[in-house]
Amino acid sequence: MHIHDVLIIGAGPCGLAVAARLHEHTPSATFTDDEHQRYHWIRKHGRRMNIKNYRTNTDSFSKNASPDKSGHGEPSKEGKLDMLVLDADGAAWMTKWNRLFKKFGIQNLRSPMFFHVDPADRDALLGYTYEKDREKELQALPGCVGKEVSKHRKKKKRNGNGMISQTGADVGERDRKDYFTPSSSLFTAHCEEVARRYGIGSGLVQQERVQNIEYSNLECYQGSDDGSVMSEHSLSEDQKVFRVTTDKGIHLSHVVVLAVGPGNAPLIPPIHGLTSAAPHEGYCHALQLGSFPPPNMALKIERRAATSMLIVGGGLTSVQLADLAIRRGVSKVWLLMRGDVKVKYFDIELDWVGKFRNVNQASFWSADTDQERLDMFLQARNGGSITPRYRKILDAHIASGKVSLHTNTTLKSVSWSHDLRMWTSTTTTPESDLPSIDFIVFSTGMQTNINAVPFLNTIQQQYPIDCVGGFPCLNNDLMWSDDVPLFINGRLAGLRLGPGAPNLVGARAGAERIAWNVEDVLQKLGRARKENGGSDKGRDEADDNLLDYAAGRKNRFGSLVDIDSN
Ligand SMILES: Cc1cc2nc3c(=O)[nH]c(=O)nc-3n(C[C@H](O)[C@H](O)[C@H](O)COP(=O)(O)OP(=O)(O)OC[C@H]3O[C@@H](n4cnc5c(N)ncnc54)[C@H](O)[C@@H]3O)c2cc1C
Repeated sequence: MHIHDVLIIGAGPCGLAVAARLHEHTPSATFTDDEHQRYHWIRKHGRRMNIKNYRTNTDSFSKNASPDKSGHGEPSKEGKLDMLVLDADGAAWMTKWNRLFKKFGIQNLRSPMFFHVDPADRDALLGYTYEKDREKELQALPGCVGKEVSKHRKKKKRNGNGMISQTGADVGERDRKDYFTPSSSLFTAHCEEVARRYGIGSGLVQQERVQNIEYSNLECYQGSDDGSVMSEHSLSEDQKVFRVTTDKGIHLSHVVVLAVGPGNAPLIPPIHGLTSAAPHEGYCHALQLGSFPPPNMALKIERRAATSMLIVGGGLTSVQLADLAIRRGVSKVWLLMRGDVKVKYFDIELDWVGKFRNVNQASFWSADTDQERLDMFLQARNGGSITPRYRKILDAHIASGKVSLHTNTTLKSVSWSHDLRMWTSTTTTPESDLPSIDFIVFSTGMQTNINAVPFLNTIQQQYPIDCVGGFPCLNNDLMWSDDVPLFINGRLAGLRLGPGAPNLVGARAGAERIAWNVEDVLQKLGRARKENGGSDKGRDEADDNLLDYAAGRKNRFGSLVDIDSN
């Protein structure tokens, strides 16, 4: 059986970011613009031009060396990584993302322009927008950018409950260009462009749902159901590899990257009267919606009968769905929120996105314990919130009587009438006067608990890992442990990446860290990418030095000095 170099589970933004980054030679996320330019220059022209070594006074020109034409983002032809991507939702990148955005009728992303999956350049999405002449698809974030208010001044204006005031812009005029949100179609087109540019498009992603992951010696797999394991890399029998079992078969790989989002099933709170048999014609979780409004309501809307929908949840999705329901003919929506309406530009507080993010990120990384990190993570995200734009839309619906908003209210019990095909009684705390309801949507998020992800049971038993708040305590390389090259990107890496982990900003930062370490793991196995002439020895030393510099490995300054000796 074939052994892949890298197997990525999940073809969402985090999986795509890792796959692309593993094919990108220039690590822009850690390079400054100048270093980036210089790196490109060395890669493109370094073998054609003389680079003077000031210590030996010799030129580095080699007659035998051929110019390296592999430019920015082009995958190396030789020694290309042997990679496979599995995704439960579809045989293409971003299937789930695209499905949800279409289902919820989302026109624009919530996140700013520098939240994207392209490893080539921090400004890649912005650059792509200009290149394709699609500036009209950018939506401004009014009030977000402007006269900056320092954290110090904000602290001075602390409100009564000790919270730092969120009013006043956090982002200076200089960064205005970043604080637009791209249209959904622009973002999708950019993701497609990333996949195309790195040659990781069609054929790489297979639709398979992963059911189990093991990491054992090759000999353990011999004679098992999947037939004999052919070791084409002449691995010894005690070499450990991953065996990934899916609903369609078995795959072996040296490295596995987990990019499955929360990994858990959508969470519907236990409510008296809800039948557990899913799917039910009277309710579902937002992430499991079929047609919207659902068939029983669509029929009534067609007959011009009055309809009512109950949406539970305080995040942006619940308000987006309320708006969509009204626009699609639902007569009235009842919106139930456990807390108050929280209004934020992004899922995380602006000071984790704007100018002060480095300060916050530094204190996150230097926290003494994972419990402290978890507290910071939860505080920065602070549950569901809506954007100022959707606050206005919500207010307009409330004013027109189409939406009835109940904050600080929880759903207690419901009762379904088979004859009427409606929820005839619903009780809440505190009590609110709800009529019969046609359909309930639970926009109540996803649980994060690594112990409740069934396909990780075996690996948990083989290599137990500590968890805090349901998040795994990975090592700093985003690896399961020093001996198990199971890398995790996205939300489940929240204790290492910070509050941005569940968002696009986390996808790119995580991909950067994972890529460095995947290369290290494969190199140790003799499976490193062979970019120059198919031999590790031929690998350009200047590249290695610059890579070391960017990764902060070895002596950073030493590696810069040595660049010129090649
Ligand atoms: C409606 C909506 C809008 C959002 N908008 C934004 C936004 O504008 N900006 C932002 O930064 N964030 C946004 N987010 C947050 C968003 O979820 C993340 O940014 C992004 O989707 C995280 O990517 P991911 O790859 O970690 O997870 P996902 O996008 O959830 O992808 C995970 C993939 O793993 C697959 N998978 C899971 N389990 C298995 C298995 N057992 N076997 C095989 N495959 C599996 C799934 O099928 C899925 O395709 C939004 C989220 C939602 C729901």
